[in-house]
Amino acid sequence: MYACPNCGGGLRFDISSQKLKCDYCDSDHDPYDITKEKDAGVETGEYGVTIFTCPQCGGEVMTTDESITGFCTFCGASTVLDARMSKEKRPAKIITFKKTKEDCKNIYKKMAGKALFAPRELKDPEYLEKFRGIYIPYWVYDISYDETVKAAGVTTSTGLNSITTNYYDVYCGVDAEYTGVSYDASASFDDHISETIAPFNTANMQEFTPSFLSGFYADTADVDKNLYRADAVKAAQTDAAARLASFNGLRQYSVSHDAARQALSGKERINREVNEPQLGLFPVWFLSYRTKKDRVAYAVVNAENGEISADLPVSVGKYVLFSLIMAAPIFALLAFLFTLTPGWTLGLTAALAVISLIVYAKEISELKKRHLKYDDKGFYEKYGPKQDKEELKKIAPARGALGSIAAIAIVLIVLRINPVDDFYFYAAAIAAIIGVCLTMSAIIRRYNILMTRPSPKFYERKGGNDSAKDN
Ligand SMILES: [Zn+2]
Ligand SMILES: [Zn+2]
Repeated sequence: MYACPNCGGGLRFDISSQKLKCDYCDSDHDPYDITKEKDAGVETGEYGVTIFTCPQCGGEVMTTDESITGFCTFCGASTVLDARMSKEKRPAKIITFKKTKEDCKNIYKKMAGKALFAPRELKDPEYLEKFRGIYIPYWVYDISYDETVKAAGVTTSTGLNSITTNYYDVYCGVDAEYTGVSYDASASFDDHISETIAPFNTANMQEFTPSFLSGFYADTADVDKNLYRADAVKAAQTDAAARLASFNGLRQYSVSHDAARQALSGKERINREVNEPQLGLFPVWFLSYRTKKDRVAYAVVNAENGEISADLPVSVGKYVLFSLIMAAPIFALLAFLFTLTPGWTLGLTAALAVISLIVYAKEISELKKRHLKYDDKGFYEKYGPKQDKEELKKIAPARGALGSIAAIAIVLIVLRINPVDDFYFYAAAIAAIIGVCLTMSAIIRRYNILMTRPSPKFYERKGGNDSAKDN
């Protein structure tokens, strides 16, 4: 806790004034003026924090305050968190919170309001109180080119009975700077989420000082600083090469994009003198929800620009009720407007079955992709592919498709036999609709798995902090 210089009361970072505010005497203080002993100096590259660990999942958040309310941000458990003192790598930069908790709740309510079938608890004001302000660590790469490069140019011209090809070595000075190319440095923070709420405006980065964390928390950086170096360089290089190739002064020598890229390769500098990526803290509001099936759903709001990423599961009860209420008038309308022939009824049912099969197949492939975490580079690098075949079978079973497959089979058989009595058509249609309903309910269950995550287990992934500390 940072003490107020006037009265000794506790200070916390106030978002609207961007100052440290004293709860007791209401005075404002510049965060850069407020330090305490365990902050240590910039020289040591570390600063003192309290790390809170969840006894259930092992998830960690750290802060410069000593206290925390009793729930875990990552698994949603209400529990007393274990506290311990630690020294952590001191971030170089920070983007402070710009959206208040009230702003964040309003953004969330607007989104959840549109989710008709979301469970009621997700809209409960008491639950929304659990939004916690967390800084997510990012590796920030500044990439600059300041050098004369040699690019290959080729021109050809066709004469009366000759073709002339000219090769040029084109020398040009390149002076380009890309600042704040950033990637999330926490393996526990899903790349999906960080992409959805991107971008942070790195022009708003300030020098870090520990008192900014008063009243907020930070996730620990556990992804190697060089993991995204090649991605950052590639992004800068692609842009610089495109500009070089289309530069008017070079046009007469026809320098291709590839040639420009080759000329630039290996010429970049990262963070100029230091030549090291910098650690930055970027702000989010974080909320987790624990489902009855022991899974978790996250809502994350970018606290700089208000972008939101929220997992909104469907309450099966709400969905069934809605379907029943909607089905009655639709059937009445159909019966009134058209006289459905038995053949058409069967055809429509088969079409529904095919659509449900396509949706189900898409969900299964998405589930597999997400389960294997191939799209999360930070996670993949650290823990390898998560190829748990048993778990995969549980999450993405083929049997959910059986209902609709049976429905199609029934329809085909009846159409083939073409019985005289209409009764068989309607009986087959009813049986087929039941089959489609089975696949539909499988679709909702898969959807809810897609919309939630397995309860995190950080204890199983030890050794997490090492790489960030060593560097
Ligand atoms: Zn005070
Ligand atoms: Zn937990």
